[in-house]
Amino acid sequence: MTPTTPRSRCGICRLHDDAANVAAYEIARTDLWLLRHHPDPAPLAGWLLLDARRHLSGPLAFSDREALSWGQAVRHASQLVQQLTGCDRVYAIAFGEGAPHLHLHLIPRQGSDPHTAAWSVADLYRALAEGKRQAADPQLVRDLVARGRERVERHQLETSAETMKGTVELSDKEMAEILDLTGERKKGPPSVA
Ligand SMILES: [Zn+2]
Repeated sequence: MTPTTPRSRCGICRLHDDAANVAAYEIARTDLWLLRHHPDPAPLAGWLLLDARRHLSGPLAFSDREALSWGQAVRHASQLVQQLTGCDRVYAIAFGEGAPHLHLHLIPRQGSDPHTAAWSVADLYRALAEGKRQAADPQLVRDLVARGRERVERHQLETSAETMKGTVELSDKEMAEILDLTGERKKGPPSVA
């Protein structure tokens, strides 16, 4: 696939529209982001993917609203991986080569499992594809998806500049600076003091 692959031929867009895939793996969906478990065969239980809902290749193509919301979404999704798996850390990796549509791999790093350390996860991924390693138990994946759905809070996956003020207690001055930086401030007539 090339970076200009149209939406109609994008594997990630098709997954988002596929009822069976949604029923089996989707944990949460907002109008910007979609959080799902890695489909079976899954390399690790708790290996989640955070996708852009829009067909876009990565942060280079973010709108201002997506750029502001992304950090909150990644943090919340990473916290969910840790809550579901008890892992020590959560890796975040995005290539976008399998499909040129942003899908961030959120990978549970278990301190007790050297196969999950740094680039060893790439070896783990390849070993699974080559049939040299067993996939995560599909029942365990189903259980994690169910627990994830119970725990996830949609509003924490998606926070725009409009709602950020309430959640992180920005001052009016800080909020004004963010809106200026992102060009989101409503264009209106100049105020007359
Ligand atoms: Zn797509």
